[in-house]
Amino acid sequence: MRKFRIPFNRPFLVGKELYYIAQSVLSGHTAGDGLFTGKCQTLMEKEFGAKKILLTHSCTAALEIAAILCQVGSEDEIILPSFTFVSTANAFHLRTAKLVFVDIRTDTLNMDETKIEEVITEHTKAIVPVHYAGVACEMDTIMDIAHQNDLYVIEDAAQGVNAKYKDKFLGTIGDIGTYSFHETKNFICGEGGAIVVNNDKFVERAEIIREKGTDRSKFFRGEVNKYTWVDIGSSYLPSDILAAFLYAQLENMEQINNRRAKLFDYYYKALIPLVNDGMLRLPYVSSECKTNSHLFYIILKDENTRNALLDYLQLKGILAVFHYIPLHLSPVGRSMGYTNGQLPVTESLSNCLLRLPFYYDLKQEEQAEVVDSIKSFFKK
Ligand SMILES: *Cc1c(COP(=O)(O)O)cnc(C)c1O
Repeated sequence: MRKFRIPFNRPFLVGKELYYIAQSVLSGHTAGDGLFTGKCQTLMEKEFGAKKILLTHSCTAALEIAAILCQVGSEDEIILPSFTFVSTANAFHLRTAKLVFVDIRTDTLNMDETKIEEVITEHTKAIVPVHYAGVACEMDTIMDIAHQNDLYVIEDAAQGVNAKYKDKFLGTIGDIGTYSFHETKNFICGEGGAIVVNNDKFVERAEIIREKGTDRSKFFRGEVNKYTWVDIGSSYLPSDILAAFLYAQLENMEQINNRRAKLFDYYYKALIPLVNDGMLRLPYVSSECKTNSHLFYIILKDENTRNALLDYLQLKGILAVFHYIPLHLSPVGRSMGYTNGQLPVTESLSNCLLRLPFYYDLKQEEQAEVVDSIKSFFKK
């Protein structure tokens, strides 16, 4: 991989990460569900007002557990955006469900809640809103639709940890929420995630599925005197060494959020002149949402301009990236029968979007350089 002077992402330390890792190793329990796994779960449950949070080794794993909990099978249809990371879809595809992609809103790039009802059938089992960029979906509407049609709601809050919709933390609103602590997210431990279990009926089974289909969690708590195979499941726990790293980050959530908000504001204010000149569009955060400033994107006027700017920045040693290739237009999506033109907003905006370097340790001089380079691109 080529080295960039200003990379797109850079993992960071904020406090006692390495100290806690040493503690975890010296404690003699480095497997899952050690001291720091418990500390992370309790901290988040308290902070976010969640009933039950279980650490997993990824958000992908948390989504897979969610699909098993909802007993998703080949008769079921799942409603989700196409503008998302592959794991949102794969968790349900693995369980052979039919994926029903809906278009996104032009302002937040989140699932368009007004497009959900028209695709609900008697086979629909769940709605999976993705809180893109740490900006909340229209959860009141989505929850109303779910209640009226007796559907589960699984929030993919991989990007939305510690962000809010009205007075609720993302991930705590639907039946289940999922978080990511991958090194590109706000709070990191290399690879990591969590499942937020809000619906009481899922709590016990979530523990079992996460522990290879056994009741080992009950055994650890002394509720049964031996543990055994009781259900399907897999190994979804992270090592306590990773939880130790994560705990140091979670202890500093406010500091991390504040720092990211500053970075976000800097880009936003510095790029407004280009908005006024009609060169690009900036992210939108609705007033119902308290964002965690997960990422910073700009939307250019067309795909050629986006690609030319990306190349121009790379020549200057700056790595900007785009995402996502809409899932409905991926090889797997096409094999399901999806084609171009079915989700026009997703298709046009994903071609025009560019993400700028954005990470905790990004320096103001570096941000200034990114902005100056974008400005000089448009002066060419
Ligand atoms: C990052 C991400 C995931 C996957 O998270 P992992 O922890 O890497 O498995 C899933 N969904 C969305 C929307 C993401 O951004």
